[in-house]
This record gives sequence, structure tokens and C-alpha cells, in this order.
Amino acid sequence: MKLQFNIDKLPPKGRRYNIIFNKDDVCVTEDVDNIKAAINIEKSGNVYKSKGFIEYDVHLECSRCLTKFAQHQKNDFECEFKEKGEYREYETEIDEQDKEYLIINKIIDFEPLFRDLIILSIPLKPLCSPDCKGLCPICGTILNKEKCEHYNNKEITKKYQKT
Ligand SMILES: [Zn+2]
Ligand SMILES: [Zn+2]
Repeated sequence: MKLQFNIDKLPPKGRRYNIIFNKDDVCVTEDVDNIKAAINIEKSGNVYKSKGFIEYDVHLECSRCLTKFAQHQKNDFECEFKEKGEYREYETEIDEQDKEYLIINKIIDFEPLFRDLIILSIPLKPLCSPDCKGLCPICGTILNKEKCEHYNNKEITKKYQKT
């Protein structure tokens, strides 16, 4: 229950929370650790405004050279949580995204927000560096580290470069 806050327990002036948690708390299967978040929650009229940041290390495999590497990520966020009743008259217009940031039974839940932030930050084709040279298509040498006999053979590299 690290990421859930009861609005009855929030001080009127708002509060800042610093939390450390792990990937199971946000149900992500990606290889993520050292997750930290700073959250400010403040009541503003009928809504609760929240902003802060989340940071973590994500462990990836380079899509070109297949080397494993870690990347540090930091994402700022800003969002509003509303009590379910606030939506009643617009009920048909609630889209999926808003639905997740509803306050249900007086609980503000950061789990869906943080899960979205983490999942969206993970690149589809991770690269260990922007100019990663990849693997030799013939002998599998990691070309960032050493050059094999095929490296300067233009005919061969051209043939394989399309992939
Ligand atoms: Zn690479
Ligand atoms: Zn080679």
C-alpha cells in the first residue's frame, strides 16, 4: 500500500511524499529497479492536484549488439485526481485514461500512473549508444569492441545492411 493515499489523512495544506518501491508494487514485468518517487498532493477545489517525479534504472538489451546495459530514467508528472462523483454528469465522456485516475473509496492510487510512466519510457528498440556498430552479420563479433576480418569488406556489409 505504498502508493495509495487516503484523502482523509492528507493535511489541508497538502503534503510531499518520498517513496522507494519496486516493480512488483506497480506490476511491471520489465527489468526495472531502484525506483524512487517524489509526490506532492494538494487539494484544489474539488480535485487533488499532484506533481512530482519518478526515477529508476531500467535494464535493457541493445537491439543491435545484444549487449545488456542499464539506463537511468527520470520522468516528471503532473496529474489530477477526482472523486468518482465529480464525473457523474459527464459519465459517458470518461475515457479510459481518466478512469484510472479516479479517487475510489477515498484512495488516491498512484500505481496506474507510475505503471504507465515506466512502460511508456522503455524504448522499443533500445540502443547501448546512438552509434552502436552492432554485430558482424557473419561471425557475430561485437563491432564496438573489436574489428573482425569482415569489417571493411564493403560487399559483405552492404549485403547484410538491409536487416
Ligand atoms: Zn549496442
Ligand atoms: Zn565478422
